[in-house]
Amino acid sequence: VSRAVHCALVHHPVRDREGNAIASAVTNLDVHDIARSARTYRLAGYWVISPIAAQRLLVDRILDHWKHGAGARRVPERAHALAICAPVANLDAAIEAVAAKEGTAPEIWVTEARSMPGLAPIGWDAGRTALSHQGPPVLLLFGTAHGLHASVLARADVVLAPIEAGGDYNHLSVRAAAAITFDRLFGERLGT
Ligand code: SAM
Repeated sequence: VSRAVHCALVHHPVRDREGNAIASAVTNLDVHDIARSARTYRLAGYWVISPIAAQRLLVDRILDHWKHGAGARRVPERAHALAICAPVANLDAAIEAVAAKEGTAPEIWVTEARSMPGLAPIGWDAGRTALSHQGPPVLLLFGTAHGLHASVLARADVVLAPIEAGGDYNHLSVRAAAAITFDRLFGERLGT
């Protein structure tokens, strides 16, 4: 991959069951698990987006525990994963943070559990190919609750095709979806 890739977990605006914009709560597990997957696949950053200051403080406390506290002493390699993680208030702040780190504003790539009308998704091989060329950094967005709100999807430069498992049940956790997405975009292709 020759382009810097960052990911973000969006807690607002995300959809409720009716598609209205809500804010979801940050969970400890999402911070850890996605940071470990992102670090494993060499992403340059993992931004936890929440407009609620107390939620961003929670993320800071989790990071501090694992980077400097008891967690860092017990499981030092966890600190390396969380070193790429930081809380930000909204998508614009995440874009600014990536632009500050990479020198150029990122393309926005979004993920969705099912194809949405009007959003022409690109396939996984096309995604891998796009990342192998020179180009601006990428900020890959994952949703919470019932998914990224329409106002976020409207800002996408690229919509990744849904992960299709072929069955009629499609409710991957965001942690699982992130890991599968990273492996499809950045994983070694053994045997090919
Ligand atoms: N509360 C749930 C949890 O604990 O994971 C959050 C569900 S949220 C809708 C799941 C997110 O993972 C989606 O917004 C999307 O970013 C991603 N996702 C889930 N299933 C997916 C699929 N089949 N293909 C692509 N992305 C998917």
